[in-house]
Amino acid sequence: MNWLQRLLAGRYGVDQLSIAILILSVILLILSSILQNPIVSILTFIPLILCYLRMFSKNFAKRRAENEKFLKLWNPVGGWFRRQKNRFRDRKTHRYFKCPSCKQSLRVPKGKGKISITCPKCKTEFIKET
Ligand SMILES: [Zn+2]
Repeated sequence: MNWLQRLLAGRYGVDQLSIAILILSVILLILSSILQNPIVSILTFIPLILCYLRMFSKNFAKRRAENEKFLKLWNPVGGWFRRQKNRFRDRKTHRYFKCPSCKQSLRVPKGKGKISITCPKCKTEFIKET
């Protein structure tokens, strides 16, 4: 790893946006091998080049601002994926309901029969079979 550290000394390095760009280029690479389309193949290199340019950039402020903008866009998407993952993990022990008035997602233990659920956000009560 020593040569890599020396290579990246004083450079911006990798951040979440660079990783996202790399993932995008991998997706394009897979697409181009499926589609056998020369335009898609060329497009694959654009995110790769972009990623390298960002990694070796010396303009830290600008790169950080780009990453922050990206995270602001990504966070709602990432949060949704995290929620789906939790939902899948808890599928045997918990049920998820949406509050009828404020649409807040609520997690309730499974197998309690008919119970009254109080929304922690707006205090609305509703009956659900768990
Ligand atoms: Zn509510």
